[in-house]
Amino acid sequence: MYYLPMKPLIVCVHAVTLLGSVCLAQPDPNWLNHDRTRPLPPEVQPGTPSTQEEPGRAPSDALVLFDGSDLSAWASLNGEATEWVIKDGAMECVPGSGYIRTRQSFGDCQLHIEWATPTNSEASGQGHGNSGVFFGLTRYEVQVLGSYGNETYADGSAGSVYGQYPPQVNASLPPGEWQTYDIIWTAPSFDQEGELLSKACLTVFHNGVLIQNHVQLTGPTDWLTRAPYSAHPAKLPIALQDHGNPVRYRNIWIRELGDSGKPEFLLPDSVLDSYTGTYQRRDGRTVTISRGRNGLLVLDFFGNRFDLYAQGPAHFFAKTTDVQCKFKILDGDPAVLISVGEGDDPYRKVE
Ligand code: MG
Repeated sequence: MYYLPMKPLIVCVHAVTLLGSVCLAQPDPNWLNHDRTRPLPPEVQPGTPSTQEEPGRAPSDALVLFDGSDLSAWASLNGEATEWVIKDGAMECVPGSGYIRTRQSFGDCQLHIEWATPTNSEASGQGHGNSGVFFGLTRYEVQVLGSYGNETYADGSAGSVYGQYPPQVNASLPPGEWQTYDIIWTAPSFDQEGELLSKACLTVFHNGVLIQNHVQLTGPTDWLTRAPYSAHPAKLPIALQDHGNPVRYRNIWIRELGDSGKPEFLLPDSVLDSYTGTYQRRDGRTVTISRGRNGLLVLDFFGNRFDLYAQGPAHFFAKTTDVQCKFKILDGDPAVLISVGEGDDPYRKVE
């Protein structure tokens, strides 16, 4: 039997993914050209476009993150309730209240979001209607700014990948008018050691006009600096910036792309911290749960360590092995039910 040597294969994959923003998708060799047995794509009811008066409808397979009625999908950065407010069907940044973020985490996705800058602002440059759509929590920003008749540096204007790529054109509308971003986000990927495997990419349409065409990010976006990548989970919340201006948002929906796996949520630190400790099984054996790199919970399970991802407020799963942890109160005591593949064993918290 012939075994493919693994190491050269991995080197080859690294080389391809780091080469550049060429089209990497290839036809699947498992199907013949025009193969009649190949499954057809799922049907989706398309959405409708927005007008200045009315937001449009999302496609049928989109997850609506904000429809003008409530902020239940959103939190402040630390996971607690946000101070942003809803006015006339839009959410509005309350200056000084901090960023707002989704409770759910997302990897590769298509994001539709509409925004409007204030009409009563005398400010100019970066001070006029500044906000931002961030991927990877607060790492990668598509700039939101009132760029209609308002000059600023190119890589900080509306639709720029902040500090890296100016938009190809300025498709801005005047202050107060609803503007749209349709964004394709490809998350960066990292190996187990935290080394970069592939860079993040962004494609952005501003009011229907292509302004960023699959640009590769150099790393996180920031003011005055281009920092290198540092490893983070593939899925993280999407955040909107509080830059001190009452920018409004409406009609926000998202479609996860590729094999997105289970829904994941980023829980508040206070909740995650409450789960850390040593837990004991009936036979006296113990396991520990702690906070690890990236703030994730880590289960130390008889010499094996698993990063735990939140599927719900008290339900976690590992990605490398089918390990599930469900935190609950058992006979008045904090406990965790741990299942590995089948059944589950109760472990009571002892410290
Ligand atoms: Mg900004």
